[in-house]
Amino acid sequence: MDINERALGLGSKRSVIRELFEYGKKRKAEIGADKVFDFSLGNPSVNPPEKVQETLKSLLLTYDPMALHGYTSAQGDLSTRTAVANALNKLCDFEISPNLIYMTCGAAASLTVSLKAIINKGDECVVFAPFFTEYRVFIENAEGEVVVSNPDEKTFQIDFDDLTSKITEKTKAVIINSPNNPSGVVYTVETIKKLSDILRSKSEQIGHTIFLISDEPYRELVYNGQKVPFVMNYYDNSIVCYSYSKSLSLPGERIGYIAVSPKSNEVSKLYNAVCGAGRSLGFVCAPSLFQKLIADCADLTVDITAYKENRDILYENLTAYGYKCVKPDGAFYLLVNCFGLDAIEFSEKAKQHEILVVPCDDFGIKGYVRIAYCVSKDTIVNSLHAFRALAKEFI
Ligand code: PLP
Repeated sequence: MDINERALGLGSKRSVIRELFEYGKKRKAEIGADKVFDFSLGNPSVNPPEKVQETLKSLLLTYDPMALHGYTSAQGDLSTRTAVANALNKLCDFEISPNLIYMTCGAAASLTVSLKAIINKGDECVVFAPFFTEYRVFIENAEGEVVVSNPDEKTFQIDFDDLTSKITEKTKAVIINSPNNPSGVVYTVETIKKLSDILRSKSEQIGHTIFLISDEPYRELVYNGQKVPFVMNYYDNSIVCYSYSKSLSLPGERIGYIAVSPKSNEVSKLYNAVCGAGRSLGFVCAPSLFQKLIADCADLTVDITAYKENRDILYENLTAYGYKCVKPDGAFYLLVNCFGLDAIEFSEKAKQHEILVVPCDDFGIKGYVRIAYCVSKDTIVNSLHAFRALAKEFI
């Protein structure tokens, strides 16, 4: 059959995370859900804020249904974009206009649209390992080439020498993700400043703009009173890709946005390209009900106390058992070294203890697995004996 080979390839093979999640479902049916310690998926486990639930009910009860469920402007309702801009203006040293916000179906759409807006065939896009596996799919969909920059393995911050060596005349963009999936690492202000300096000087050297795409679905999920530096304050040609999937625990509702920095070169051209890319991909008019919800809830965040507690229990116990873990400051993932074993083999061994953890090879690093600790505290506590038994196989 003469169909698109790339699409066929992507659709025929499940991601390693989905594969493990499906295995988990089967295994839970066989031996009981409480016996399987499933850390495969980044599905939030805390409720959306009370106000989100109340706003939703009130919208359904009081709003004219035709207006509630009807099409909005392609780039989103002005009232929603105004609420988003107002929320961002609290982070920003300058004003962002609602006319530079584009509402999307979550961070995946924000990234796909942003990449499509700036990449021409053969342009290179740098991603920093470990990176969200779908970046490769999104960049290649925009006909760009993926270039992987390896991290400083002690801190999992950017290795600037490696980055500098990876930027070429074809570099069009770099994507950062802080707090990071899968390491939980938060980039410091120093990291963002240094990255910005390099991108500015390299843009000048190669004679065209290098865009900084900041993928921020975990922006508010930080644990030590830390603040995630807001990239637009440091680098002019930046595009923020956001989602309420994690910050409001609404991953199934598909709502997020793109914000274009008003300081970007030729900013109105860039925003128009975002609108055009959204149009060409069919990502117009993000879900209307949830746009209206965001108009009232753009400033809220879920209570992250439970995630912090899970992180602390896991990190303290796993390191005591001999695991080497990257200390996560944000998101809800823990990156664990596999005692020198291949990550796929280690993940298989973990399965024998009914622990489901994701091998990180597809995230661009070898010898690590990811634990998504956005699960109940009971799952964390009950899994500890299994983690201890697994470690004993190696030490
Ligand atoms: N970017 C990162 C780093 C993620 O972890 C995820 C989802 O887990 C996404 C993007 C996609 O987010 P969304 O579900 O809002 O499309």
